[in-house]
Amino acid sequence: MSDFELIYARPEQGGATIIFPFIGETLLIGADTALLSADALQPLGDGWQAIHFGRLDGLPCEMRVWPQTGEKQLALPEGMMTGDFRRLWGVWSPEYLAALIRARQLAAWLAHHRFCGVCGQATKIHPTEPTCECRACGHKAYPRISPVCMGLVLKGRTMLLARSPHFAPGVYSALAGFVEAGESAEAALRREIFEESGVQIKNIRWFGSQPWPYPHSLMLGFIADYASGELVAQAGEIEDLGWFDFDRLPTLPHPASLAYRMIEHVCRRTED
Ligand SMILES: [Zn+2]
Repeated sequence: MSDFELIYARPEQGGATIIFPFIGETLLIGADTALLSADALQPLGDGWQAIHFGRLDGLPCEMRVWPQTGEKQLALPEGMMTGDFRRLWGVWSPEYLAALIRARQLAAWLAHHRFCGVCGQATKIHPTEPTCECRACGHKAYPRISPVCMGLVLKGRTMLLARSPHFAPGVYSALAGFVEAGESAEAALRREIFEESGVQIKNIRWFGSQPWPYPHSLMLGFIADYASGELVAQAGEIEDLGWFDFDRLPTLPHPASLAYRMIEHVCRRTED
């Protein structure tokens, strides 16, 4: 099995390249969900920028982005449609999805760093590293990564799951929130879970992490035990929450998500 390898080396002149094309932050794919070739992308014209960001199947990967115009609805040439990580999960291989997550985060970063935050002049992509460099003052902006702590809290044979108003109908997940500036991951986890649910936790243990391209998150997954407190849903953030028996779980998040893997891990471990 091939792996996705994260490197910045430019390909040899004229060599084959796997292109991940975007208009703004939106991925474009062929009508058959396959990636589009350089020839197939020609109707979009010139005026794109590119970052070589890795290697797949021994071939260099290029994130190629065309600027999005003001119109909300993209006018796409025939044979192209918009793609999405959630839609391609289970269709593309895990290696291609890993590359897509990276390309999607880079596309979002470029779209948000067209101008220098120090002097306001236009930026350009550095030729050998993933940096937006100011043409005037030389300030460099690196891709933004936003850590999010997620905690699956256990109490006997039940787990604490909650619904945010922006979830798909009926879906419940583990509690999560962004790490604030100057805060440790563990402190952020305790704070977020208390704010969202009124519950204090103990015995925090590391589970794993996952880059998540909406738009530039790094999910940090922990499992913890209930310590004290009564459930109180945070107004505006949490629509509903509760302790769910391992055998009677509600609709869960996407199987590609870290939350789903954590929940599945806990249920499987108790079966053994
Ligand atoms: Zn500048």
